[in-house]
Amino acid sequence: MRAGGHTTVIQRILERRAAEATPEETTATIAVMLRVMPPPRALLVCQDAPLLEQLARRIPPDMLDYESLADEDDALRRFESEFRPVVVTDSLELVRRLRARATVRTPFILYVAPLDDTAGREAGFAAGADECVGRRTSSRELDARLAAARRIAELESVLRVTLAENRKLSATDDLTRVNSRRFFSKHFPREVERAARYGRALSLVLCDIDLFKSINDTHGHPCGDQVLREFGARLQLSLRRGIDWVARIGGEEFAVVLPETGYQQALDVARKLRAVVAQPPYTAEGKTMEVTASFGLCGLDRVPGGERRLAERVLKIADAALYRSKNAGRNRVTATMLNATGE
Ligand code: GH3
Ligand code: MG
Ligand code: MG
Repeated sequence: MRAGGHTTVIQRILERRAAEATPEETTATIAVMLRVMPPPRALLVCQDAPLLEQLARRIPPDMLDYESLADEDDALRRFESEFRPVVVTDSLELVRRLRARATVRTPFILYVAPLDDTAGREAGFAAGADECVGRRTSSRELDARLAAARRIAELESVLRVTLAENRKLSATDDLTRVNSRRFFSKHFPREVERAARYGRALSLVLCDIDLFKSINDTHGHPCGDQVLREFGARLQLSLRRGIDWVARIGGEEFAVVLPETGYQQALDVARKLRAVVAQPPYTAEGKTMEVTASFGLCGLDRVPGGERRLAERVLKIADAALYRSKNAGRNRVTATMLNATGE
């Protein structure tokens, strides 16, 4: 709930900033994100009860949102069930065990040494702590160490959300390197408008890999990914460079936009694509896989002007054609011509 909550806030900030005509500096954006973020989640784990109580009193709730525990095993279980970006502990063993976990995300660990001496701190660092303080450290020093821990946790969190968001905003699909769904949503209506302005031809071909779920189930997800990559590449390589374009608009669904291409010519292209994606069979991880796809086409010899939401209508018609290809037994092309006066 909490993570979802602040992720949404950050997403809104990023979207608003991306939409602004004069984007503010990145630094300013990060400052806003940091300001709206709740204090990082933390675990406070001390076997020493008086120390636990003392630390609990000294850590302000707006600094860290912590849960305190006395037992190391409990702490590890809590940690496994929900990642905490900050851990404060007096247990060297816990520091070691946290560091030994083979995971990508690691917490910032502040070790509280029994004595405020070099040997105590060094033992903490040797175990894998990021920072060490003695148990009788001044409030000022403790605050400074905690503030550093918080800053690192917050920056990591901002970075994670930003990277995920950028991926979503990207014009290119990460897996296949063809255009993304986002690119399609933005540019397909523009292609339709452009064709309408000049009364030109335009066609849209949708294709969906047949029984793709069984490829994943039989050969594993990585093989499925490899098939998707190759499938996207085969589509792209079969088209006119710089004119036609491909987008991955769903998991195993692609759109092919054919500007200046009327119904009959588009039907020829779709038939060629159907053959190209099916042969030769795909290979991944030493396995050979037979793959086919179903196609749906909506072709316009002359795109009419003045129709609102025409792009949406073309997409719907192509989708309905694709659906008919699936129902008729897959691995085929179904085409619909859309006239200036209607279907
Ligand atoms: P149909 O012929 O009716 O289209 O059958 P299908 O199995 O292709 O269709 P369905 O929609 O049932 O399954 C699509 C599958 O595509 C399910 C999903 O796991 C898989 N998929 C979606 N995205 C990806 C991806 O990025 N990688 C891999 N490997 N699989 C994916
Ligand atoms: Mg499918
Ligand atoms: Mg599908």
